[in-house]
Amino acid sequence: MSKKPLLSLEKVEKSFTNSEGQKLLVLDKISFKLEENEIVALLGKSGSGKSTLLRIIAGLTKPSGGNVFYRDKTVTAPAPGISMVFQNSALFPWLTVLENVEIGLEAQGIPPKTRRQKALNAIDTIGLDGFESAYPKELSGGMRQRVGFARALVVEPLLLLMDEPFSALDILTAENLRNDLLELWIDKRTPTRSILFVTHDIEEAILMANRIIIFKADPGSIQAEIPISLPFPRSTESEGFRALLDKIYTILTTSDREKFSKEKIRAKTATDKHPEYARRLPDVSVSELTGLLEAMESHEIKGKIDLPELADELHLDVNNLFPLTEILDRLNFIKISKGDLVCLPAGKEFSGADILKRKHIFAKHLLAYIPLAKHIREVLDLKSNHRAPEELFLNELQEFLSEEEADRLLRIIIDWGRYAEIFAYDYDEGILSLENPQ
Ligand code: ADP
Ligand code: MG
Repeated sequence: MSKKPLLSLEKVEKSFTNSEGQKLLVLDKISFKLEENEIVALLGKSGSGKSTLLRIIAGLTKPSGGNVFYRDKTVTAPAPGISMVFQNSALFPWLTVLENVEIGLEAQGIPPKTRRQKALNAIDTIGLDGFESAYPKELSGGMRQRVGFARALVVEPLLLLMDEPFSALDILTAENLRNDLLELWIDKRTPTRSILFVTHDIEEAILMANRIIIFKADPGSIQAEIPISLPFPRSTESEGFRALLDKIYTILTTSDREKFSKEKIRAKTATDKHPEYARRLPDVSVSELTGLLEAMESHEIKGKIDLPELADELHLDVNNLFPLTEILDRLNFIKISKGDLVCLPAGKEFSGADILKRKHIFAKHLLAYIPLAKHIREVLDLKSNHRAPEELFLNELQEFLSEEEADRLLRIIIDWGRYAEIFAYDYDEGILSLENPQ
């Protein structure tokens, strides 16, 4: 029996034009289908276009190419039957919980009495009973997000879209809300048949989804699709869960290495592409990197370390561990291979060294493997006074990155560079300089 899919994407593309008038391809030929009774997670690093895709499906943004079909109809504007939960439930502060939930129905022209009844039901379903007349500022973050869910569910959507709906909540609140939502869906206490949600949390994706679509960045495209058949309720401790975690980890780490070698080839052939120094860096501190290298040494068995196991030992979420291992890999302190970590000689030397020696090793690897560090150092070497204002680098980076991203990147490299003493930074004046110019 072949039924029409609820949602179908055909080669959806999106590009944005930056302030210089350059086109930036954010989504590249995204095609997939969503059947009824499916929960699908879109998993990928930040900047891979997940939110943009969700907004296109919700009819809030137009694609630059391709088509989105909801039940055979092209989506060009918000469609009845689809609703969306945002990361931060954007509630109206001057409206009560009840009024905030009702507002979704007003747009549909539903008479006031029915509106009220439906809103009360939705509030009840999502566990907000008793808070109908409260104002958003009187509620905790978790409760406010519940209101966001109630507002999305009150219109009885067949397809619910959610953009990182649990990421702003503390762990326990997120877990509660996730379980409540899953229960609603499993017990069919809501007409919502399918859920498509964005997350950057691997465990969250495995806990909730029947299928995970993994995104890679630059440009955002589908890298892999993984069906998940573990029965509900799922436990992060089960063997099946750990195996999937390993598998997805491997996919996410592999993509980075491939991307890197592709980037190298591209940089050689096309000069107008991102220069290597404008490549993203994960937001991690030197002390986190040092801490991980030290911990690895004592957890090494037969030359290898299992990533999820190490995360457990350090009481770190695997998602927090990922950016750390990514950068240690790029610095050639470790190698990631098939979900396992191998400490390279330089990594071992680093963890066994004293502080001065550590700085020395870190400086060597930073200059060798992180093009932005090398670039800054070269500019400072060239300048006769060996000084340069940070704006110089910010402007360069902003040719290829958003202002925010350029800022973030420079802040990270300044942090690392100062530790390595490859350059100094005057915080008050915003000046970078060489400490010992020679
Ligand atoms: P994700 O949700 O996966 O983190 P986004 O969809 O938010 O990714 O963004 C993907 C890329 O598109 C980013 O590089 C972002 O800067 C860019 N982008 C998103 N929205 C716009 C916009 N309105 N104008 C220009 N660039 C945008
Ligand atoms: Mg996003």
